[in-house]
Amino acid sequence: MQVKSSTTEIELLEAQGFAKAVLDTAVDAIITINHKGIVESFNLAAERIFQYSQTEVIGNNIKMLMPQPFQREHDSYLDNYMQTSKAKIIGIGRDVIGLRKDGKEFPLHLSVSEVLHQTERKFVGIIRDLTHQKHIELEAAEARDLLAHMDRVNMLSEMATGIAHEINQPLTAISMYAQTALRLLENNPEKTDLLASSLEKLSVQAHRAGSIVERMQQMVKQEDGERELTDCNELIEGIRKLAEVEAQLRGIEITFEPIQEDCIIFSDSVQIQQVALNLLRNGMQAMASINNKNGNSICIRLEKSQDTVKFSVIDQGTGITPQVHEMLFVPFASTKKQGMGIGLSLCKSIINAHGGQLSYSNNHTAGATFYFTLPIYTETDS
Ligand code: ADP
Repeated sequence: MQVKSSTTEIELLEAQGFAKAVLDTAVDAIITINHKGIVESFNLAAERIFQYSQTEVIGNNIKMLMPQPFQREHDSYLDNYMQTSKAKIIGIGRDVIGLRKDGKEFPLHLSVSEVLHQTERKFVGIIRDLTHQKHIELEAAEARDLLAHMDRVNMLSEMATGIAHEINQPLTAISMYAQTALRLLENNPEKTDLLASSLEKLSVQAHRAGSIVERMQQMVKQEDGERELTDCNELIEGIRKLAEVEAQLRGIEITFEPIQEDCIIFSDSVQIQQVALNLLRNGMQAMASINNKNGNSICIRLEKSQDTVKFSVIDQGTGITPQVHEMLFVPFASTKKQGMGIGLSLCKSIINAHGGQLSYSNNHTAGATFYFTLPIYTETDS
């Protein structure tokens, strides 16, 4: 009997030693308290995180490790829980603030579980110091903000250069026509037809300046319109009809290679149609600029991959030369006489705002293919 009891004692001591070793090698702080909030155990990680030694904490109330107002409220919270069993943290876990010995507050993740030891209710808290993680998150957020800011600054400076360049031309012309009109009034006031012609030209240039500003406003606004579920094939059928008249006038045939099954996207369909139409028009204009000498058909192709759909516009135009490539997505850069050069940069930002990509490649035979991808809608997106 005697022998058996000492074996049990040894086993018990061994088990306690093992439990302590486990507690002390844990990376997270592990603290146990009784139902009054008095600390009963405080492992090595807890000492490291809170900078208190075990002897300074054990026997004291756990609230010494909390800043205000939690320190003030903890006793009543615990009492309340003992009476109602309504938990705010116990069994749930959340990010809270801790208080180190040096008085500094720090973020931590706390998960608490309740244990019934003999007849007493006790609580085990596992605490992870989040200081480092929050620091990294903050740095990442700051880097993101900085990038977004740089993007806006870049875009603004590109736009400012473009506007200055574009708007200067009509403004110079306006001032020239105004001076001519003044001179006519001074020297030949009877020649009203000349005066009228000057004023008419002046008005055309003023309109041009106005439409540059208007397109620019459109670009800057980039309002998010209403998004809806749309089938890609239907969306393209719609723009094919819109472009049909222009194609006929230019002697171009539009062919369409749809997807052989349903393919739904969640988008502002007016904006996506605007993008597809712009690509189609650009392609047709590039073909017309060389009198369709490479061929007279332009193809819209839809292809579905695992989670994206690709819209391609394959033309037989001039293709993109290295010089044009440099300025392709730069606002206000155009090779066309009447071009605004806003189309592609606007298209790109619409597609990016929809979580897709817009790009192009020159075809092997002739012309270029402009394409964009968009995420396919799945049930889990709703
Ligand atoms: P815009 O059409 O008003 O000039 P865009 O931004 O749509 O403005 O196009 C910018 C320039 O890119 C065009 O002026 C043209 O030189 C070139 N470009 C666009 N699409 C094509 C294409 N499919 N083939 C050849 N050049 C193109």
